[in-house]
Amino acid sequence: MIIHLKEKTNKDDAHKLAEQVQGKLIYNQKNKIIVTSSKKNDYPESFKDYIDETFNLESDIQLASRDYKRNTRSVKINNVEIGGQSDNTLMITGPCSIESREQITNCANLLKKLGLTTLRAGCFKPRTSPYSFQGLGLEGLKMLSDIRDEYGFNIISEVKDASHVDDVIKYTDIIQIGAKAMYDHGILRETGKQNKPVLLKRGFGSNLQEFVQAAEFIMSEGNENVILCERGIRTFETKTRFTLDLCGVSYLKEYTNLPIILDTSHAMGYSYGVPDLTRACVAMGIDGLLIESHPNPKLAMSDASQQLNFDEFEKMHSSLIPICKSVNKNLI
Ligand code: PEP
Ligand code: MN
Repeated sequence: MIIHLKEKTNKDDAHKLAEQVQGKLIYNQKNKIIVTSSKKNDYPESFKDYIDETFNLESDIQLASRDYKRNTRSVKINNVEIGGQSDNTLMITGPCSIESREQITNCANLLKKLGLTTLRAGCFKPRTSPYSFQGLGLEGLKMLSDIRDEYGFNIISEVKDASHVDDVIKYTDIIQIGAKAMYDHGILRETGKQNKPVLLKRGFGSNLQEFVQAAEFIMSEGNENVILCERGIRTFETKTRFTLDLCGVSYLKEYTNLPIILDTSHAMGYSYGVPDLTRACVAMGIDGLLIESHPNPKLAMSDASQQLNFDEFEKMHSSLIPICKSVNKNLI
């Protein structure tokens, strides 16, 4: 159950009320609200004077539920909007890892040429092996921030550890939480205390309920600017890197109020399949895409097999525009 408290409710009273129903008191942008795990509309009689509105929610999805907010939430990344009243499908692209100033400048020039707004590159890489390239860390973030100043792009990069949150916030515009970090409650809570948009990737071994509940962790700290990212789950199939769960995307569109971005690069794992898969995703009318591109994928220091070279990316990009239009979306 979600309880909206009247504006006049002071902090102490709000705390007491939350304690009485064993709920969580949340200060979001507009009001004080209490969320409880109870599915029934049961609160003590003494609450009446403080309550503005209540919402009975049947599932474990609460703040992210369409039964709570019918329309997809608007997430604003500076001057760019997804969800809300916008019809935008946001193309986010860039290399898996930032590797050098030259490499990222080449990527920035590709975005500029195509009129794109959002550059992504990893600085703290969650690699499977401790002996692989781990990313340029803070040095990489500073290079990204220089690119932001020079080109005016929005920047997205990931946090691998809660101790990275402050730096990533300082130098970027969207905080990415990677698939392996989806269960990291330190990161979820820390990013929940901010108001920068958070792109939350689905853990490759998590079901949809666990995924949405991870989003609830962020939102329940007060940050409602959450974007969900489906990036493929592990199935019995080994010919592709993961299996992109498009049925899950339909579920998320139906039952949650959060914008949804699809990452076809990590799902497929091989560049040959990325353009087709991306076209299929765009036809579903989604809020955005995350595609890895690199000036010379063969030399990439991480995820070399799946990154598109610039020719491949440009070709795919132009093929997406009419598909977007056919589902009343605008590729930005
Ligand atoms: C990435 O975005 O480069 C990445 C490591 O993705 P994921 O967390 O989905 O594996
Ligand atoms: Mn990658």
